Amino acid sequence: MNRKAPGRPLGSGWRWRLPYLMLGLFLVAIAALVWLIREYDEEDQRTALIGDVLWMEQNLRFHLEKGAELLAQLGPGLLDEPQPSAAAQAQMQRLLQPDNPVVQVIWMDSAGRIRGALPMIGENRRIGETEDATPAASLFRLAKVSGRPVFGPAYQVLGDDAYFEVYVPHYRAGEFAGVIVAVQSLRELVSREVPWWFSEKYRVSISDPTGQEIVSKSKAAILAHGLEYTIPLDPPGRGLVLKITAYRGEVRWVPILLGASILLLAAGIMWSVWRLRLHVVRRQEAEHALHEAYAFRRAMEDSLLTGLRARDMDGRMIYVNPAFCRMVGYSESELLGRKPPMPYWDPDDLERTQALHEYILSSASAGGTGVEVRLRRRNGERLDAMVFEAPLIDAHGHQTGWMGSVLDITEQKRIETMARQQEERLHATSRLITMGEMASTLAHELNQPLAAIASYNTGCMNRLSNDQANKEELLMILGKLGKQAQRAGQIIRRVHDFVRRSEPKVEQVDLNQLVTEAIGLVEPDSRKRNIRIAFISAAGPADAQIDPVMIEQVLVNLIRNGMDAMRDISLELRRLTISVGRRDNGVEVTVRDRGRGIAPETAERLFEPFFTTKTEGMGMGLNICRSIIESHRGTLRFEAAPDGGTVFRFWIPASES
Ligand code: ADP
Repeated sequence: MNRKAPGRPLGSGWRWRLPYLMLGLFLVAIAALVWLIREYDEEDQRTALIGDVLWMEQNLRFHLEKGAELLAQLGPGLLDEPQPSAAAQAQMQRLLQPDNPVVQVIWMDSAGRIRGALPMIGENRRIGETEDATPAASLFRLAKVSGRPVFGPAYQVLGDDAYFEVYVPHYRAGEFAGVIVAVQSLRELVSREVPWWFSEKYRVSISDPTGQEIVSKSKAAILAHGLEYTIPLDPPGRGLVLKITAYRGEVRWVPILLGASILLLAAGIMWSVWRLRLHVVRRQEAEHALHEAYAFRRAMEDSLLTGLRARDMDGRMIYVNPAFCRMVGYSESELLGRKPPMPYWDPDDLERTQALHEYILSSASAGGTGVEVRLRRRNGERLDAMVFEAPLIDAHGHQTGWMGSVLDITEQKRIETMARQQEERLHATSRLITMGEMASTLAHELNQPLAAIASYNTGCMNRLSNDQANKEELLMILGKLGKQAQRAGQIIRRVHDFVRRSEPKVEQVDLNQLVTEAIGLVEPDSRKRNIRIAFISAAGPADAQIDPVMIEQVLVNLIRNGMDAMRDISLELRRLTISVGRRDNGVEVTVRDRGRGIAPETAERLFEPFFTTKTEGMGMGLNICRSIIESHRGTLRFEAAPDGGTVFRFWIPASES
């Protein structure tokens, strides 16, 4: 079968791209979802950050305001008394605790003179020496005028810290009585007021108006990119900025793992779609091959000349091929599903066909030889068929019905009948021919001895009437006459034997001898025709098991035919040569004449019975000769002689002894 390359697998186009496309879209959607979640997450973080920043700022403000309030409470104890009261001192000590942002408390009278300071002025720096353009005097004045705490600008001090001051005015009975200044450390403020949980999450720093970071509180240096927030720190104000930066959040494993597993699953889906596709392609190829094989089988069934039909176990027709339909003249649809009696059964022979059908379906006939049935075509023509039935076995080895192949043998039967009739006619004819052959043979063979007898008789009578009768001569002639009479008798006996279908009476004969005798028989005739007969005998005996009468008859016939052939040629050329020799384990005799030869059209028909070119001929001679030679298991042939004329030669196997 032509296993041509399977065509483009079905669905290798867009149908196979669709799952990949869907998967791609799914991945895009997942990526978008992840991105959105991240966005929301960041937004949440930002919101939380803002909340925390505001809280922080609030916290600082609250603390600073609370601190200012505490300072205000110190006023009476520090400024209204000549010496700071014990209570004020104790309170100051509390304020100046190491973990407190307040590093120094200074109190001034209404004129701005420093009344005292704790710790003492001069240890660190002098008040009013701010690096800012705003001098302490102006802060003092502002506090005095506004009656509210005034915060000063931050200034860098040694030790990586920055201080700022708060001026809290004090009034005594409505009269400005002085100012209490607290120098506060920004670093302390931040480290004290930023709780641990806040510093776990964020880096807190304070920058001056130039953007330079003054103090910070951080746990680590690695920061989340961009997630930071700045807010003015007021109080103390004056351009101070509170900046809060979120640490890189802890790695969120769940979405990463989820994303990774989605990717993994997508890869798995892609792989399985690819495998599935391979499988489907292979399947399609197999289907294609199956289809091809089916089509090939179908084509074979359709082009079969043998009718095929299948029947189920109930005898219902389940399959017919076109050859069967053509044979019976019914279409497939008319036959399928039909149960017996079938429309193509011969109505005159229904019972026999039914019986035959049952016999075929009986398991006894399974796999047997064909059965001949007579059917009828749709057009009424008779149909002789040979049916070979075999069990129909399915793939599981169960018999599901019967499969029959039907051969149309109508023509074959017709030819057989014709041949039989012809043979009968031929038999009758051949019987007639045999009888005719015998009659003609008898006439032919008897003709010669009888003519010889008549001739000898005439010779005797002539001699007697002329008184020339010589006793020896008469005896010799009468002896020859007697021989011819005997030969006539032998011929009749042989015909008689032949009629009784007897076999040749074989005996061991020397062919040299027999040829000499035959020449003796034809001698009178040859002399009359002026034909010289030459005989070349074999050196030594040429023995063969033969019927001498029959072979002599063959010899005489061949010699006579040769003499007949030389009838019209000049006298000096009339010469007949007979030779005997041994060849191929047998004896060969040739009779050569110098006659006119044999024309090709004559040669073809030479051995046919009744074929003759002579007016008085019977045309049986050569036919009988060949029969005789063949009955001796020999051969008879002829050929043109090289110097004109014809050579007839027969060969007979030598005798056994
Ligand atoms: P018949 O001699 O009665 O004609 P045969 O069967 O012996 O019948 O010969 C058939 C024919 O074959 C003859 O009529 C003759 O034409 C041809 N024939 C036979 N022998 C010779 C021969 N030696 N030379 C030429 N023709 C021959």
